[in-house]
Amino acid sequence: MTRDLKIVEPERETPVLAQTDVLVVGGGSAGVCAAVAAARAGAEVVLVERYGSLGGLATGGLIALLLTLDDGQGNQVIGGLCQEAVDRMKAAGGAFHPPPGEWGDDTPERVREYFRWGLIWGGARAHHRVRYAVAFDPEVMRQTLNEMVLASGVDLIFHMWGADALVEGDRIRGVVFQSKAGRRAILADVVIDASGDADILASAGCAFELERVHPWLWFRMGGVRDVERALDAGAGFFKTPNPGVVLLPWGSAARIDRKIDATDPRDLTYAELECRRMVMDEVRRLRDEIPEMSEAHLCNIASQLGITESRRLRGEFVLGREHMNQGFDDAICVTGHWTKYGAVYAIPYRCLQTREIDNLLAAGRMISVDHRAHHATKEIPACMAVGEAAGTAAALALECGGDVRKVDTRLLRSRLNAAGALLGYFDETRA
Ligand SMILES: Cc1cc2nc3c(=O)[nH]c(=O)nc-3n(C[C@H](O)[C@H](O)[C@H](O)COP(=O)(O)OP(=O)(O)OC[C@H]3O[C@@H](n4cnc5c(N)ncnc54)[C@H](O)[C@@H]3O)c2cc1C
Repeated sequence: MTRDLKIVEPERETPVLAQTDVLVVGGGSAGVCAAVAAARAGAEVVLVERYGSLGGLATGGLIALLLTLDDGQGNQVIGGLCQEAVDRMKAAGGAFHPPPGEWGDDTPERVREYFRWGLIWGGARAHHRVRYAVAFDPEVMRQTLNEMVLASGVDLIFHMWGADALVEGDRIRGVVFQSKAGRRAILADVVIDASGDADILASAGCAFELERVHPWLWFRMGGVRDVERALDAGAGFFKTPNPGVVLLPWGSAARIDRKIDATDPRDLTYAELECRRMVMDEVRRLRDEIPEMSEAHLCNIASQLGITESRRLRGEFVLGREHMNQGFDDAICVTGHWTKYGAVYAIPYRCLQTREIDNLLAAGRMISVDHRAHHATKEIPACMAVGEAAGTAAALALECGGDVRKVDTRLLRSRLNAAGALLGYFDETRA
């Protein structure tokens, strides 16, 4: 048994690779938006991603659906960098969404059609309407994010893994990264943890909750003979912007026998092996049972497990279900709910702040919300909007010695609005 066995590592010197204004750890949808927003606001920014491409779950997890940019009643609630990414992907032929004139429409044929794209979700009894949601090609998303990051002047570094937070009292000096080159430190005035799993927050000693989940593993198949007929026959896939290619959101009907802790390598290994085996079984079943798929081929299985939740910050404010449809003076974005109509959450800036560290912010699916609010706030558009806010706040914090608590939230909100965020939703009811 090695459970209680520990070693003491010898003291060592760690080279400093860079010193910057803002360090963003994790290049998923939140991290990219944080880095781009901070750089556009004039900060010097380093963005570090452990893998070799951007987008996180949105690309590597094949979660190729932006759910949702609206309130379910026909009103757009998320704009800013998320909208910019949509515009860029559309221009590159890699995105599809209902036109604005159809948002909120409940015509059965339209609703049925967008269900087929995975752009409408929710229970069978709901009064479904057309949402502003976007199906995209993950490779076009990757390229779009590359372009946005590079054009904004962000110093992007792939293949380094954020390992240890360098904490001194109530400040984080930077992060030590592990890579094939060895351990390297990056020092920063403000650090943004956008690692999805809150790796840096945990290492810095910040309070968090850990949720165990059933992992998903989405995959894509091509060469489907007649997509519409296959859907009529009950095939559980979504249409994509690529003709003949369908997206299979595996992990609901069939799933592995237990929930996992997505921060535990042994659990992850079990899940990777089991999910992959089961996905291959599912590919065989689809070929055997759906005539239109008899000659279909597997395009790719997501390179990242679909992890909905792991660590969530317990920060300055915990957004809960009781805060649904409530405005806040320090709201930095408003997000709809992908399975509910007319249900929105305004996300306070305090959900990004830790209780322990002055110059550290959280962005993306790890922010300080409860399990139920997380259902909405984890969605990619919300992660992008939160990331944009974190980056903008980090740049403003540089004028306050990096202290993210000292940021003037009115100024933050006005900067976000000027950049295209849609923060006016609760203007009349804001508490
Ligand atoms: C099965 C499933 C279905 C979903 N369906 C939808 C949907 O249809 N529509 C929707 O909008 N949302 C959906 N979501 C939610 C959404 O995909 C995620 O919540 C969102 O993409 C998270 O973005 P993020 O940037 O916070 O984290 P991530 O996308 O996880 O990005 C984190 C990034 O950080 C990197 N990283 C991690 N640790 C480190 C480290 N220590 N050092 C350096 N880099 C690191 C990762 O490689 C990754 O690139 C779904 C999620 C799942 C799991």
